Amino acid sequence: MTGSPLTLYNSLTRSLEPFVPIDPSNVRVYTCGPTVYNYQHIGNMRAFLFADTLGRVLRWKGYPTKHIINITDVGHLTSDADAGDDKMEKAAAAQAKSIWEIAAHYTEAFKQDVARLNITTTTEWTVATDHIPQMIDFAKKIEADCYEIEGGLYFDTSKVPHYGALARAATDEGESRIDPVSGKRHPQDFAIWRKSPPGEQRQMEWDSPWGRGAPGWHLECSVMSLQHLGHPFDIHTGGIDHREIHHPNEIAQNQAFCGCEDSGARIWMHNNFLVDRGGKMSKSAGEFLRLQTLIDAGFHPLAYRLMCLQAHYRSELEFSWDNLAAASVRLKRLVIAIGLLRNRAEPDATETSPLVDEQVRLFDASVSDDLNTARALTHLEILSAAKMNASARSRLAAIMKIDEVLGLDLLTLTRADLRVRPASATLTETNIETHLAARKEARAAKDFARSDAIRDQLTAAGVEVMDGDPLGWDWKIDV
Ligand code: AMP
Ligand code: ZN
Repeated sequence: MTGSPLTLYNSLTRSLEPFVPIDPSNVRVYTCGPTVYNYQHIGNMRAFLFADTLGRVLRWKGYPTKHIINITDVGHLTSDADAGDDKMEKAAAAQAKSIWEIAAHYTEAFKQDVARLNITTTTEWTVATDHIPQMIDFAKKIEADCYEIEGGLYFDTSKVPHYGALARAATDEGESRIDPVSGKRHPQDFAIWRKSPPGEQRQMEWDSPWGRGAPGWHLECSVMSLQHLGHPFDIHTGGIDHREIHHPNEIAQNQAFCGCEDSGARIWMHNNFLVDRGGKMSKSAGEFLRLQTLIDAGFHPLAYRLMCLQAHYRSELEFSWDNLAAASVRLKRLVIAIGLLRNRAEPDATETSPLVDEQVRLFDASVSDDLNTARALTHLEILSAAKMNASARSRLAAIMKIDEVLGLDLLTLTRADLRVRPASATLTETNIETHLAARKEARAAKDFARSDAIRDQLTAAGVEVMDGDPLGWDWKIDV
């Protein structure tokens, strides 16, 4: 490991802990992935940006890292606590499509958002339905801790030590509130295998020793993490809602499987929610914000990445268009400042400067302190500021290096890239260039009335003309 010691907040102990890898040559991370019954909202993407930052920091600290995100295409019910309909079946019925079509469409849309946000640390995407035989095998091995009822095979949570310790404030209420399953011994017991209701044919169902049906949602993560990462592995991540039901259930399964108290992962990490004025961003509310919604409004996806990096992952982050606009301006300033450095020099890591080294050291100390990206960004700003008294070559080399953690494309992004055409725009870039060429001619001919008229026409179409600026024009974002 290089630099400052890495400390991470472990939800299991509710404390900051030094990170001690099980095998420093192969750090293993599992992130609970999306349920692909719908588009991901920007709150979901915050969870994956956090996981990506963690993966990037681990590599920055010198650890080769295996990082898995799963794709949930079966088993997740409308309530996390085993009640309601299967999200995938419900979406397929509503859209008159097969579940496989639904899964393929939303997986692709998710991967597109992942690419646009520079989420790059995932080494493997594991798909739940590719692991059905393994899930059945796992269920057979923990069968002694389960019981069968009409609905299927259920896990008896009283069989494992300290069930729900991760959730701390676990009450029976959450699990029993909605549509209790008849025959469950304890409200918090959960499905390992759900039998298809008699007479009902499901699109996704498989034979099992407990009848034809589908695995319970929690099973997939225990099975895929065990198969791809082993037991125990280093870090398990997810959104803070998973701390309450999904992860305690995974832990119970892992304990039953190993016949030990080990939770399966050394550290359990959870990102806090992205909220808006109405509360937690969620899909059940109907309309929700997707990354594409932000792009359609004229924002670059990396402005959203920066907005997330500005907050600590354990803090709630409020989404507002103003906050996003502020992040976008900050990104633009960085791109301008770094662009000026790039006009002067190429990055050269062989050129050292104590002032630059000090900022990199402070950057490292910030991200090593439970991924404090908010503080780390201030060191990026010092390195890119016009007044810094160090060579452009060494500063660019340092910025290039720290961008391995930030993932903001700082050495390649240009202001023109940040000029994202809003979906509501009536003009194309080519139209605008044509108008500006005509305006230039009018000015050359000293026809200022015509030149002003063209400018007014562009302004009315949401285009800001910027005389004297090499970029020439920009979209006015109206949010
Ligand atoms: P899902 O597709 O519902 O399984 O969610 C994918 C990930 O997004 C999970 O890790 C959730 O915990 C997380 N998540 C859900 N809503 C939010 C939110 N509003 N802010 C941050 N993370 C969220
Ligand atoms: Zn999971």
